[in-house]
Amino acid sequence: MSILSANIIYSETRAESKNLGKVDKGVGCGVVGCKNPAVRSLSRTEMGGSGLSIGGEGRRVYLCHDHYKTWKKATKKSKSLERTRW
Ligand SMILES: [Zn+2]
Repeated sequence: MSILSANIIYSETRAESKNLGKVDKGVGCGVVGCKNPAVRSLSRTEMGGSGLSIGGEGRRVYLCHDHYKTWKKATKKSKSLERTRW
């Protein structure tokens, strides 16, 4: 029974922390449609060119493990190609 109420509190806290944009336990990934917990925080400028659509606002962006990997790959690629987009 106590686990059930803890879960309810957890999801409420999670929604709040998302609005505040704090990196803490229970913060969700900032990618639109992703509900995984965030493991990394990056600045919004670092997200440029990654192809990920980030929701919310603020200078910090939070990524889950999967999207962090996606971001890493994407930025690595764009750096090694050294090409202009147009
Ligand atoms: Zn994610």
